Amino acid sequence: LVVSGHTLYINKSIGFDLTCIDKYLYSMRFSDETLHDIKCRFRRELENGLGRDTNTTATVKMLPTFVRSIPDGSEKGDFLALDLGGSNFRILRVKVTQDKKQPVQMESLVYETPEDIIHGSGTQLFDHVAECLGDFMEKQKIKDKKLPVGFTFSFPCAQTKLDEAVLVTWTKKFKVSGVEGMDVVKLLNKAIKKRGDYEADIMAVVNDTTGTMMTCGFDDQRCEVGIIIGTGTNACYMEELRHIDLVEGDEGRMCINTEWGAFGDDGSLEDLRTEFDREIDRGSLNPGKQLFEKMASGMFMGELVRLILVKMAKEGLLFEGRITPELLTKGKIETKHVSAIEKSKEGLTKCKEILTRLGVEPSQEDCVAVQHVCTIVSFRSANLIAATLGGILTRLKDNKGVARLRTTVGIDGSMYKMHPQYARRLHKTVRRLVPDSDVRFLLSESGSAKGAAMVTAVAYRLADQTQS
Ligand code: BGC
Ligand code: MG
Repeated sequence: LVVSGHTLYINKSIGFDLTCIDKYLYSMRFSDETLHDIKCRFRRELENGLGRDTNTTATVKMLPTFVRSIPDGSEKGDFLALDLGGSNFRILRVKVTQDKKQPVQMESLVYETPEDIIHGSGTQLFDHVAECLGDFMEKQKIKDKKLPVGFTFSFPCAQTKLDEAVLVTWTKKFKVSGVEGMDVVKLLNKAIKKRGDYEADIMAVVNDTTGTMMTCGFDDQRCEVGIIIGTGTNACYMEELRHIDLVEGDEGRMCINTEWGAFGDDGSLEDLRTEFDREIDRGSLNPGKQLFEKMASGMFMGELVRLILVKMAKEGLLFEGRITPELLTKGKIETKHVSAIEKSKEGLTKCKEILTRLGVEPSQEDCVAVQHVCTIVSFRSANLIAATLGGILTRLKDNKGVARLRTTVGIDGSMYKMHPQYARRLHKTVRRLVPDSDVRFLLSESGSAKGAAMVTAVAYRLADQTQS
C-alpha cells in the first residue's frame, strides 16, 4: 500500500491532473470570445473618452498629451530628465547629438523615495525631488547651468500644454496630500526656487507611456503605441486630431494617454472580477479605482496568488489544509516570486523554496498546483492587456483605413520584462485578437526618460524659434 501510494504520488507529480485547478479558477480563464468582448467594451471606452459630450464622465480618461509626433531625428541638446512614479525614482542626464553611431548618451542615478514621502505631503515630496535634482547636478558639475528638464511623471495628468500637468489622481503606491488638482510643474518650480542654489527649466511633463513610445520611436519610426506593464499599467497611442474633441484643430495627430488602468471603474468589468479582485481592491489605497490595473498590473499579481492559495488551503485543497501566519500575511507573495515560480526549468524548485519559507510544508503536488495557479493569474493579466491593446490596434487600423495594420508597440515595465512567459503570451494573444496586423513589439531598453528628453528637445527647439 505504501509502495503503491508512493508510486501514485510520483506519477501524479509528473502528470499531475490540473483540471481541478482549472475548474476552481475557471472565472480567471478567458475564452477568445470573452477577450473579443473585452476588446469591444474597451473600444467604446476609447470613444467615450475622446467625445465632447462623453469625456467628462468617461472612466478611461483619454488625456491629450500635446505630443504631436514621434522623434524625427533632428533632436539635439543636453537635457535633464526626472522619472518619478515607476519602480524607481531616477534622474538622468541625456545628451542627444547628430552622431550616427551613438546619438544618445545617458547617465543616471536612482534615488530612494522613502515610504513617509510617498504617503506624506506635497511639499515634502517636491522638496525631496528638488533636493535630489540638486544633488545630481552637483555630481554632474552643472549646478551653474540652467538646463532644460523633461519630467516623466507616471500618473494621470490633465494637460493643456506640454509644460503644465494637473494631477488627476494618485495611483499605485502613491498617496501624497495636497497635489491632486495641482500643476506639478508649478509645485516643482516652487520647491527649486525655495532652495535657490540652482535653476532648472521644466519644459515638458510626459507620462511614462508617452516616454516609452518616444524612446522606441527614436529607433523605429513606425512606433505609435506605448504601453507599460509594471507596478501599474497604461497605454498611449497616436490619435487623429480630428477625433480629439477637446483639442482644437483637425490636422495631424496627437498622442493620447488612455489611462486604461481605470477601465472598469464604472462597473463595466463586474462580470469578470472575482472575489479575489474585490478583496485586493478593498485593501488598497484607492478602493473602487483603477480596477483594470488591479487585475492586470504587477503590483497585485503576487497578492492575488496569495489570496487564492489561502482560500484553497482553507478548503483543504492545498498543503493538507495547513495555514500559517506567513501565508496569511499581506504582501508575503510578491510578483517577483510569481515570475520565479513560472520559470520553465527551476520553477518548481523555486516554488518549493518560496512555499517552505511560508511554513506550509508543501508536497510536490502542492508545488505543481501552486505553479499552475500562478500561470492562471499571470496569463489572465496578459490576456486582459492583449484585449485592451487589441482595442487600440483595431482603432488605429480603422483610423488609417487600411486592410492590414503594420505598426510598432513600444513596451516597458517590470512585469513584461521580468516574467519568463509573459511577453510571449501577450504577443501571441494580440496577434490572435487582431489577425489582420503585423505588430512589432519593441522593448524600451532605456526606459521612458530618453523619450522625455526627446519631447523636451522638440519643445526647446520650438521655444527657441519663437524667442528669436
Ligand atoms: C498610472 C499611469 C501610468 C501607469 C504605469 C498607472 O497607475 O495611472 O499614468 O502610466 O500606472 O506607470
Ligand atoms: Mg480636434
